[in-house]
Amino acid sequence: MRKPLVAGNWKMNGTSASNQSLLAEILASAADFSDVDVAIFPPAVYVHQVQQALTGTGLHWGTQNVSSYIDGAYTGEVSAAMISDFDCEYTLIGHSERRCLYDELDLDQLVLDQLVAEKYEMAASSGLTPIICIGESPQEHDQGQTEEVVVRLLDTLLAYQGAKALSRTVLAYEPVWAIGTGKSASPEWAQNVHQFMRERVAKHCPKTAENLRILYGGSVKGNNAASLFSKPDIDGGLIGGASLIADEFVAICRAAAKQI
Ligand code: PEP
Repeated sequence: MRKPLVAGNWKMNGTSASNQSLLAEILASAADFSDVDVAIFPPAVYVHQVQQALTGTGLHWGTQNVSSYIDGAYTGEVSAAMISDFDCEYTLIGHSERRCLYDELDLDQLVLDQLVAEKYEMAASSGLTPIICIGESPQEHDQGQTEEVVVRLLDTLLAYQGAKALSRTVLAYEPVWAIGTGKSASPEWAQNVHQFMRERVAKHCPKTAENLRILYGGSVKGNNAASLFSKPDIDGGLIGGASLIADEFVAICRAAAKQI
């Protein structure tokens, strides 16, 4: 039985004061989260604040990105070792907002997938659990290329490290057309893609595939979480906008906990 995971990606939002009250409101419901892993992904400058607030509570935390380098002259980057230094358990890798908007802009898709695989390697070697984001763009979606996009990144990862390495990994299916749009994938659509991903990994290692947590991300809210999480291959969610609203986020965590 896979324990569900709900990951709250705060993106570039928050202040020390607003974080403090958001965390306090979430923690007030933490007793309901015993059957679900809950993790918070603040901006890097607030990781220490989150560490202080969540240590000893049973909740987890991580970063929104990790460098593919160990250390050195990489201004603005944060290394896997630095992330571990703040007791992070997780790091997001390959979020579409990084792939599309920032330093990863000029790279072609295959190089980008390779960069994700390099970051994966760096995170895993520092003892972090990478949450690797995979998903098709609106254009790829319209052209029916979802499986092709998913396979390309999965095969790059498998070629780098082999299927066994995925046993310390979480995958997140995040269709780009659903992120921040209010237009979630239907539970049926998401289930089909998740099942496809699991079967792809199972071809290499059935046991790893069976234990692999695959999250869904893209406009998950308190009112659609339960139907998404009721699907057999959806093991929780990666939550953006709704993770900034305590009531919404708590409702999503409760919906995931009920699936056990
Ligand atoms: C995300 O940022 O990964 C995400 C899924 O955002 P939202 O929930 O706002 O669609």
